[in-house]
Amino acid sequence: MMTIDWLIIGGGIHGVHIATRLLGEGDVAPEGLRILDPGDHLLSRWRNATAATGMTHLRSPSVHNLDIDHGALQRFAGKRKDRRPGSFAAPFERPSLKLFNAHCEQVEKTFGLEERHIRGRAVKCSIDCDAVRVGLECGRELEAKNLVLALGASEQPNWPDWAPRDDQRVRHIFEPDREHWPAEPETIVVVGGGISAGHATLRLMKDGHHVHLVSRHALRQHQFDSDPGWLGWKYGEIFTQERDNDRRRTLITDARHRGSVPPDMGRALRRAIARGKLTWHEGEITDFAGEDDALLMTIDTDTTVRADQVLLATGFDTRRPGGTMIDELIASASLPCASCGYPVVDTSLRWHARVFVSGPLAELELGPVSRNIAGARRAGDRIVEAILSRSNGTSETA
Ligand SMILES: Cc1cc2nc3c(=O)[nH]c(=O)nc-3n(C[C@H](O)[C@H](O)[C@H](O)COP(=O)(O)OP(=O)(O)OC[C@H]3O[C@@H](n4cnc5c(N)ncnc54)[C@H](O)[C@@H]3O)c2cc1C
Repeated sequence: MMTIDWLIIGGGIHGVHIATRLLGEGDVAPEGLRILDPGDHLLSRWRNATAATGMTHLRSPSVHNLDIDHGALQRFAGKRKDRRPGSFAAPFERPSLKLFNAHCEQVEKTFGLEERHIRGRAVKCSIDCDAVRVGLECGRELEAKNLVLALGASEQPNWPDWAPRDDQRVRHIFEPDREHWPAEPETIVVVGGGISAGHATLRLMKDGHHVHLVSRHALRQHQFDSDPGWLGWKYGEIFTQERDNDRRRTLITDARHRGSVPPDMGRALRRAIARGKLTWHEGEITDFAGEDDALLMTIDTDTTVRADQVLLATGFDTRRPGGTMIDELIASASLPCASCGYPVVDTSLRWHARVFVSGPLAELELGPVSRNIAGARRAGDRIVEAILSRSNGTSETA
């Protein structure tokens, strides 16, 4: 069995950033670190999901990048006068997806991360006296002295009850490896009220399709998916001082602007609605029928829409990621969880002396930004600080 000093499960935005920080700042030797992820390459899920939406720029500013230094992406973009038009978008200097991905590639190259990648899926996980044992889908076993769980939520697309999974004309925008963009003009129902639904709608309209956008609520406009105050001391203090995990969960839920779009996208959608180019429905799909020649949907009780395809842009499930593998891990060492099922970790994001978490699993400690790139950076700060103070022999836990 292979014994690894640091094993990161998940090679997405979080796993890649934490690997970068461990190698660049945490004094972890490259040969002692591995990233386990089923993708052909690291960041495959990120690349698929962002390409599927048709988004051109990130929602977050350039300081939220995967390198060690906040300013690294700006430096990578070169001198302002030499930059390609569209490299950044206002407001807040949001990088283009192309530039952000090119910078991610450079970070991977600088730290040799592809060579650290084990292609595979963890299906079993348990804590023993001297290591964490991880069983892979292929039957192989790994042993890690330290484990970082960076699972993300992208393997849990939210699928409404009414939507059949066996009709090829109904697809979720975050299903990997599916082509979402029809070649011939069609009538397409996009379901969802957030930024992914907005991106997909605008792109489908641009390609000449007739789009119905069905959202449970009126257009909600927010530049970011939570108030930027959550990135600073303003709300951070409130969160830290709240020790009750149920109330922390409520703070997180209330802080998230789920199903919201940035102002420029809101304006573009409203303009299209006003010009009759986009048909907007506020309501729930209550009935669905897949006929041979069309898909029929009833919205609330009074509107029927006929379409060629349905594109679900309904985001991800909010349940704890990791399924039975995490259930087993919890059982192996009686790991603490809140009533919402999510880990209760210390301020260093340690669930156990050998297990750190990031992303959704770190939410009850990092708050509403935990899932974003900013959350990956926060997790990197805390984990690096923990291991440096461990090697200096000081205690890092509050
Ligand atoms: C379209 C879109 C646009 C976004 N734009 C922004 C933005 O502009 N700014 C921002 O801050 N945030 C943004 N986000 C939010 C967030 O930053 C991303 O969702 C990001 O991809 C989350 O990274 P992650 O590493 O937590 O998760 P993921 O990208 O889901 O990566 C997790 C990885 O872990 C792997 N994995 C899971 N289980 C196992 C297992 N058992 N064994 C091995 N591997 C496993 C998965 O296959 C996956 O590759 C966006 C999200 C989406 C969907």
